[in-house]
Amino acid sequence: MDCVENYKNIKKTLPENVLLLAVSKTKPEEEIMKLYDFGCRDFGENKVQELSKKYEVLPKDIRWHQIGHLQTNKIKYIIPFVYMIHSIDSIKLAEEVNKQAAKHGRVVNCLLQIKVAEEETKFGFSINEVADLFKNNAFAALKNIKLCGLMAMATNTDDETEILKEFSAVKNLYNSLRVNCQVGEEFKEISMGMSGDYPLAVKEGSTIVRLGSTIFGERDYSQKNGEV
Ligand SMILES: *Cc1c(COP(=O)(O)O)cnc(C)c1O
Repeated sequence: MDCVENYKNIKKTLPENVLLLAVSKTKPEEEIMKLYDFGCRDFGENKVQELSKKYEVLPKDIRWHQIGHLQTNKIKYIIPFVYMIHSIDSIKLAEEVNKQAAKHGRVVNCLLQIKVAEEETKFGFSINEVADLFKNNAFAALKNIKLCGLMAMATNTDDETEILKEFSAVKNLYNSLRVNCQVGEEFKEISMGMSGDYPLAVKEGSTIVRLGSTIFGERDYSQKNGEV
């Protein structure tokens, strides 16, 4: 099935308020254009170099979402145009994004990545850490980033109970920040759910699902030359 059919079929199963973010990493521009022509405007990428290249050649009204870990020295390449950064995983990165955004006279939408998965490798703030940061007003001075909510990845497992537990922890953190901390009205997104687990994420209150392989098919990394 082609990506437009897949996109349509998935969209039908999602509540109105949930954004279907098409994760187009490793996929060619022609595939992105098929979805674009259908009306999709939100695309996610995880490599700065690939994102910048696609931005250059594709229509300028696409909203580009950076979803993967971002190195501070690469922020400058995407800051002029990126719509939302889902992967703010340290205060240092938040400060650096803020600084670069100020240089470009922009206020950039950002999500705080929360580490809930069992895996060692996942980036992000712990739940306690992020609550403390808000209590200490750690983000208050960062006027060029707009904190729009939270992002998380669940453990890659077939154990649905574990996945639900992790998504539910993110939702609880979100609720508690809304009630107990000075988050703004714009703090309203929960980006969680990938191809393998998005129905569970939606059940737990996700507002953005990030889907790659269920839309575009499996990714083939064999042609890649080790870009990071
Ligand atoms: C690749 C990626 C996705 C999409 O993964 P699929 O399993 O193909 O849907 C979602 N989120 C992040 C952060 C990713 O890197």
